[in-house]
Amino acid sequence: MRIRCPFCGERDLGEFSYLGDAEARPNPAAPDAAQLFYEAVYLRDNPAGPHDELWYHAQGCRGWLRVTRDTRTHAIINSVFASERP
Ligand SMILES: [Zn+2]
Repeated sequence: MRIRCPFCGERDLGEFSYLGDAEARPNPAAPDAAQLFYEAVYLRDNPAGPHDELWYHAQGCRGWLRVTRDTRTHAIINSVFASERP
């Protein structure tokens, strides 16, 4: 699988680290934050189809990316810096 980094261009998957669901980010200030983080880390959904994920370009620009990937085919639909919204 290859991921297009907005800064570095298309690169091999081995340069990136998967950091989870881009939408399931609990609020650390919530009173039940420990439970919310437990659920986000260990009780994740396994969606079939386009899914927004966070990836870290560890072997490149060290940018955080929001990647839209079809989990059925691994096709990369879109990738932007995580600070941007598509
Ligand atoms: Zn990069």
